[in-house]
Amino acid sequence: MRTFVNQKFLFKMKPDLFQAPDYYLLDDLLTEEHKLVRDSARAWVKKEVSPIIEEYAQKAEFPKQIVKGLAEIGGFGPYIPVEYGGAGLDQISYGLIMQEIERGDSGVRSTSSVQSSLVMYPIWKYGNEEQRMKYLPKLATGEFIGCFGLTEPDYGSNPGGMVTNFKDMGDHYLLNGAKMWISNAPFADIAVVWAKDESGRIHGLIVERGMEGFTTPETHNKWSLRASATGELIFDNVKVPKENLLPNKSGLGAPLGCLDSARYGIAWGAIGAAMDCYDTALRYSQERIQFDKPIGATQLQQKKLAEMITEITKAQLLTWRLGVLRNEGRATTAQISMAKRNNVDMALTIARDARQMLGGMGITGEYSIMRHMMNLESVVTYEGTHDIHLLITGMDVTGFPAFK
Ligand SMILES: Cc1cc2nc3c(=O)[nH]c(=O)nc-3n(C[C@H](O)[C@H](O)[C@H](O)COP(=O)(O)OP(=O)(O)OC[C@H]3O[C@@H](n4cnc5c(N)ncnc54)[C@H](O)[C@@H]3O)c2cc1C
Repeated sequence: MRTFVNQKFLFKMKPDLFQAPDYYLLDDLLTEEHKLVRDSARAWVKKEVSPIIEEYAQKAEFPKQIVKGLAEIGGFGPYIPVEYGGAGLDQISYGLIMQEIERGDSGVRSTSSVQSSLVMYPIWKYGNEEQRMKYLPKLATGEFIGCFGLTEPDYGSNPGGMVTNFKDMGDHYLLNGAKMWISNAPFADIAVVWAKDESGRIHGLIVERGMEGFTTPETHNKWSLRASATGELIFDNVKVPKENLLPNKSGLGAPLGCLDSARYGIAWGAIGAAMDCYDTALRYSQERIQFDKPIGATQLQQKKLAEMITEITKAQLLTWRLGVLRNEGRATTAQISMAKRNNVDMALTIARDARQMLGGMGITGEYSIMRHMMNLESVVTYEGTHDIHLLITGMDVTGFPAFK
């Protein structure tokens, strides 16, 4: 058992004894490359994230020292082509990396997801060659950290209503407005910002830290994703060079395309958090004696564990199949919604049950469960809320949009 001391906190954290559950022998469905990628991410999380993450979550700080390692395990742009600095991996490898990182912490996975799917992806897909060469290699190594500005104070689930806008001033664009709840914002070097032109059409713009009128105040007092920095993006007459507009796609479909990629990663990531909670609760149930026997020998606790492993196994199958469809270019937005919604809800339910299984110990930082549980309250809300994803499935099967 290690003891961490800093100015404010003195607490002990259990060593990371994680054993990944694979009840249906799903490793048989993975290639050697998938397993290699997964195992190196798993080993890195054990060595570099588990020992420090509780301390950083407690003091509400992103551990910047892990950025280089995140880049090395393929956490920044796993599926971006090698010529732009990415890892050139397939979608299942991408998913497995997200699973392992979120096994450590959803906040760390958020940084990886935002960088990969919400910053590198739009530059790769919607940018021109100069933009790709200028930004992608630096984002892949972590030299640059990016953020993604879509949500506004008055437009969350309905981003198409956004009021952030830019005007064509001849030799530059003039950007005004504000974005809220932006992961990585307080320290990001660049922001991919979605804003309307004078005709009301949505475009992506790359805004760089240091541009006059651009500020990124941090959002404090979060009880969730405490090891991830969240903030606002404020644009007060920011002069954005014309070459910073992403030229190859516009309209709401452009940011939504990025969200497809990020939500797919979240569907895998949530399994990681769930596996960590299950594994911790299983071990605790075998060791904790009450009424002269391990609590794991009682029917009530076995019911919880049996349901957890069943739901994890179903989620693993869902994401694996979705990964195959993504690799074939056949996964639909609605299929991704279903997996994000199901898996995050599954992880949240498991985290709540696992926390109860640890009794009083479950609320402490000695175990990862309460941190996962609180993190997942953000994951169930961001990138489309639980309810909004249900409406997407509802629309897909009935043909009727029920949003308005
Ligand atoms: C920690 C964190 C990090 C985030 N990071 C980013 C980021 O990096 N970039 C970014 O752009 N955004 C980010 N977000 C924003 C996130 O995507 C939004 O919070 C989310 O989309 C929901 O928007 P909202 O909070 O405004 O809630 P609202 O849209 O106001 O929704 C409130 C409630 O109403 C429900 N609701 C809304 N519309 C309907 C409807 N038509 N029918 C039924 N129910 C409805 C919702 O499901 C929800 O339960 C982040 C959020 C958090 C908490």
